[in-house]
Amino acid sequence: MSEDKPHDPTNATIKAIALDVLDTLPEEFRRLTENLVVCVEDEVRAGIYRSEPECRVMAYYVGTSLKDRSVSQPYGWPDQIVLLEGPIARFAEASGKPLEEVVRICVLHELAHLVGLTHERMRELGYIFDA
Ligand SMILES: [Zn+2]
Repeated sequence: MSEDKPHDPTNATIKAIALDVLDTLPEEFRRLTENLVVCVEDEVRAGIYRSEPECRVMAYYVGTSLKDRSVSQPYGWPDQIVLLEGPIARFAEASGKPLEEVVRICVLHELAHLVGLTHERMRELGYIFDA
């Protein structure tokens, strides 16, 4: 581990962890990420994310779930996973969980949304932080 302040990550640190997570996905998942862009923003912008009472809003995705996407729909704007530095850092600090783990679960959670999994299924897979 680095000597940096662990709970004061930069956007670049979070993005690097997220890209690392994508790099280590199983092959089947990796195909889903071919048209995927990962962004990091400081805080959520009002009104941009789906309301998710069950989710801590530490990340969200922009795009159409594969479940809802027509097979004939051409690739257009790439899907995006947006990670939120402030909420992620605060949750890591409050929960005592390593930043890497928090980012990993956020990425997997948003990928699961992209695939169209339910929160129930995500909970089984461990892709949700329980309160
Ligand atoms: Zn969710």
